[in-house]
Amino acid sequence: MPSGKTHASVTALAAVVTPILLNPASPEGLISGCLLGLIITPDLDVENKTRAHGTVAKIGREIGGKNGKIVGEVFSSLWYVFWWPYGKLLPHRAYWSHAPVIGTLGRLLYAPTLFTLIWLALSYLITDISPPPVAVNIWAWIELHLDNGIQWSEIRGMFISIWAWFISLLTGKASLPFISSNQFLRDGLWGLIIVDTLHAVLDLVVSAAKRTLRRKSNKQPV
Ligand SMILES: [Zn+2]
Repeated sequence: MPSGKTHASVTALAAVVTPILLNPASPEGLISGCLLGLIITPDLDVENKTRAHGTVAKIGREIGGKNGKIVGEVFSSLWYVFWWPYGKLLPHRAYWSHAPVIGTLGRLLYAPTLFTLIWLALSYLITDISPPPVAVNIWAWIELHLDNGIQWSEIRGMFISIWAWFISLLTGKASLPFISSNQFLRDGLWGLIIVDTLHAVLDLVVSAAKRTLRRKSNKQPV
């Protein structure tokens, strides 16, 4: 499979080429989204540190100035701890991490989900903290359906409406406050989807090429 360095080079190149090809009114969002792909990558689905962690460490070193080395190490370790459950949950190159759009959306939903779970756990341990509003809603919904029996059609409906919202967000038709009013975030999301898709395509192409080469070399007379 392609190395982290290859993926990072393609991602950095995409940050330059994509705004030229798509020519948006202002390229900042698209460029930022592509560059975000250097630290939030489909390959976070592994348990060990990746090139993305190295990049986070580099950012920490830049920000840290005189204490750069320590700050870089702290940043990289926090990044590692944060994504560790993701790597543990998914097998490397799983559909959920590498499929275009789904992988990107999953990683973007991972952060709020993890924070919600941590907050929820803390709110049970420490009574002073109240659970986040979203968690309360979800919990109320689960409780209601545990009592009344789960309606699968409703879950399916919810899933479809989340996707419908996501697609309308991408096509600029969603009217959600915060994101829809902000072209920068929408372009950023597109940028991230583009580099994640390039990652998946590169994985597939390189693996197929390696398989073909191996088959050819096996056929060679000894
Ligand atoms: Zn990969």
